[in-house]
Amino acid sequence: MQATALGRRAFLGGAITALVVTRALAQPAPPSGGPMDRNLIDDLVAANRILADQGVVDGYGHVSVRHPGDPQRYLMSRSIAPELVTAADVMEYDLDSSAVDARGRTSYLERFIHGEIYRARPDVRAVVHNHSPSVIPFGVSQVPLRPLYHMSAFLGGGVPVFDIKAAAGQPTDMLVRTPALGRALAQTLADRPVALMRGHGAVVVGDSLPRVVFRSVYTEMNARLQAQAMALGGTVTYLDDEEARRADASVGGTVPRPWELWKKKALAK
Ligand code: MN
Repeated sequence: MQATALGRRAFLGGAITALVVTRALAQPAPPSGGPMDRNLIDDLVAANRILADQGVVDGYGHVSVRHPGDPQRYLMSRSIAPELVTAADVMEYDLDSSAVDARGRTSYLERFIHGEIYRARPDVRAVVHNHSPSVIPFGVSQVPLRPLYHMSAFLGGGVPVFDIKAAAGQPTDMLVRTPALGRALAQTLADRPVALMRGHGAVVVGDSLPRVVFRSVYTEMNARLQAQAMALGGTVTYLDDEEARRADASVGGTVPRPWELWKKKALAK
């Protein structure tokens, strides 16, 4: 009797699963935002290679760019290591992070980071998610990440920390694998350029691929330098708010210079 009840439950469970899978498969893929500029795809490939070359990403991490012809779409590689990305790996997504034309290619589990930030931040045109090693201590301690030199002046105004356990209301596997967690992360980021993710990494945003790469590289560098300055002992002097504002305005205009250098180095490999 019990076996029959269990068997029926297992059968029903299977039927429901099959139904859910069928419905998911029946969902039509979202339409494309239109043809893309080949130069933008090349820049996205370059951004992947640069972030790997500069030690911001390793086998993990991703970078995306908003579709220039449709703000409801973004472009990002299929699920592979950033250093291996080529133009053929670039996929298009809608803001629910559903692939437009998957063709059997698998997607990054944490793509919702990108879709939900593009939805919440119309000003953002590029997003990086990384496990940048030097920022990790600042996401798990009481020491805030603060700008201590002009190259990272964009950190002025504060770097929020996303706690996924607080957002989910329970322990998770630490991955932003649902739209709801992506929305919570976007909420923590608010109007800032960088947010740390406790025990995980960071998310960095900008108005272009060169800028988001620049910010990712100098966030990693500032974190390393800040830990070194603190290890020396005594008081560390940070950029004050006015210095950060002025330095961001001037250094922020020079982003193409390191971008061209990093690109040449990374693509030569
Ligand atoms: Mn991650």
